[in-house]
Amino acid sequence: MMQWMHLFLTMRITLLSLLALAAPAFAEPVSLFDGKTLDGWETPTPSLWHVEGGEIRGGSLTEKVAHNDFLSTRKAYADFDLHVKLRLTGTGFVNSGVQIRSVRVPGSAETSGYQVDYGKGWYGKLYDESRRNKVIAESKDMKAATAAIKEEDWNEIRVLAQGPRIQSWINGVPALDFTETDAAVVLDGQIAIQIHGGGAAQVQVKDVSIEELPQPSPLKLKIEGAELAPNGLVAATESTLKAWYPRIRGILGADYDTPTSVTLRFKDMPGVAHASGAVIEASSSYFTKHPDDVGALVHELVHVIQAYPNGAPGWLVEGIADYVRYYYYEPAKGAYFKPRQGQDYHGGYNPAAALLAKVQVGKVQGIVSELNRRGHAGKLTEQAFKEVTGITPDEAWGRVVGKPPAK
Ligand SMILES: [Zn+2]
Repeated sequence: MMQWMHLFLTMRITLLSLLALAAPAFAEPVSLFDGKTLDGWETPTPSLWHVEGGEIRGGSLTEKVAHNDFLSTRKAYADFDLHVKLRLTGTGFVNSGVQIRSVRVPGSAETSGYQVDYGKGWYGKLYDESRRNKVIAESKDMKAATAAIKEEDWNEIRVLAQGPRIQSWINGVPALDFTETDAAVVLDGQIAIQIHGGGAAQVQVKDVSIEELPQPSPLKLKIEGAELAPNGLVAATESTLKAWYPRIRGILGADYDTPTSVTLRFKDMPGVAHASGAVIEASSSYFTKHPDDVGALVHELVHVIQAYPNGAPGWLVEGIADYVRYYYYEPAKGAYFKPRQGQDYHGGYNPAAALLAKVQVGKVQGIVSELNRRGHAGKLTEQAFKEVTGITPDEAWGRVVGKPPAK
């Protein structure tokens, strides 16, 4: 009896271990809405969005919505399985949509990127908002999608984004199946809910959940001096840099080899951090005082992936690193950047990132990825900037500050 029991237990443990090994390393679905607050979301127009009755509500049934407006996640997502319930009502032009892999258009209520459209005549379509400005994929079957919709009632939208392929379902009925063919389009960014301008319309949103799908993570990260930095920071940095390594390569259109073994070394040094080759050095005293500043190390990982030879304008090198940081890793920080008096792009960092965001938006071709590829090839100059963007850096900066540069 005891022997059988022992055998049984052994088998059971072995079976459980095998199951554990076989389980895919997918993250669990997480809720993006707590039912009570807009924590984790951001919008330039808070007057248009609020929480009521356990739902997010956007727009207005009594006043015409003056312009397109978007409530965005504070986080960016690359590959994911998203579920959200929407209810759309109103008079006049009544339309909404779910933005994915999008960025905020600086200085505007707009968002740039893919929109899984939602509204009569638009179900299942994929519109490229503030980028190609057109429908880039028709509904998989408009008749079936329309039949699946309960007008003016709750409908469940599912969006599955995996690499270049984007699929959607309405109440379980296939609505969209699109594969991106332009390699310069970034497959990463914020999720947002739209309320379209032009009608007195309201969108209600609930049951928002997302399962992030694993990114290939070939990065081997060796951490030295971990005992000199807060435990939480070290752990967060390790998982973040591994997850963001392939994402940064995607955002920068890095079609060249980059180091897959990177050393992150905490040490007693002045400043914040710097990168050289495949080594990032980080100041132990700075990160002890700023234990949440993982973004500063994401910035350094961008430098590892840039791997430019000497000679590129410093403001562009730093601007590209902060562009990735502030428009993808911490997108709520980039979207509302306003230059201070006397600040300009020559100092690099956030002002230069804002300049890049300004020239990037609206272009199908990836401006930043093209600049990055030229940088990696040792051909990034101010002249190259003009060739790629069509304007000079001074003209681009004029757009950031909203006035033409002084002659
Ligand atoms: Zn830097």
